[in-house]
Amino acid sequence: MIREEELEIAIKVVIVGNGGVGKSSMIQRYCKGIYTKDYKKTIGVDFLERMIDIDGEDVRIMLWDTAGQEEFDAITKAYYRGAQACVITFSTTDRNSFEAVKDWKKKVENECGEIPTVLVQNKIDLIEQSIVTFEETELLAKNLGVRLFQTSVKEDLNVSNVFRFLATKCHEII
Ligand code: GDP
Repeated sequence: MIREEELEIAIKVVIVGNGGVGKSSMIQRYCKGIYTKDYKKTIGVDFLERMIDIDGEDVRIMLWDTAGQEEFDAITKAYYRGAQACVITFSTTDRNSFEAVKDWKKKVENECGEIPTVLVQNKIDLIEQSIVTFEETELLAKNLGVRLFQTSVKEDLNVSNVFRFLATKCHEII
């Protein structure tokens, strides 16, 4: 935990998952309150941030974008360095992204150790085109030992709860 000054806590959160699941959109949504369908990743921008209040303390949430480096080995060690929490994301409409979740979990564990982690099923607005049942998703979360959140970045559904949950977890362990 980085304590920049006495009352400020900063938490670095890494967001991983296959390309196209909505990671960049999630960061834009959470930190800037915007959603753009054709959002182009800004090269050179490492992270965006948002301040929230956890039990009366200011917590700075810093969200790091892989900037399109979805291949495991293309993500640099610097991306993971100092991460205190993790969001593993898959898309409701992309089976491969669901299948890849276990590998992402292992990858993050290798790089960061055991840090507070959640599983996010994004694009829940497209539930009619779902490639995965709720039972399968729940089972995966259970097997990985992580909490499941279903979000729609597009409809702004449940996104802030993901980060509030992680920030609270991190806050508890300092
Ligand atoms: P990334 O590669 O994981 O960073 O994914 P992007 O953020 O670039 O998103 C990929 C595409 O999915 C973009 O066209 C987004 O607008 C779209 N998208 C992101 N979140 C949602 C969502 O919750 N619902 C729907 N329907 N589309 C989404």
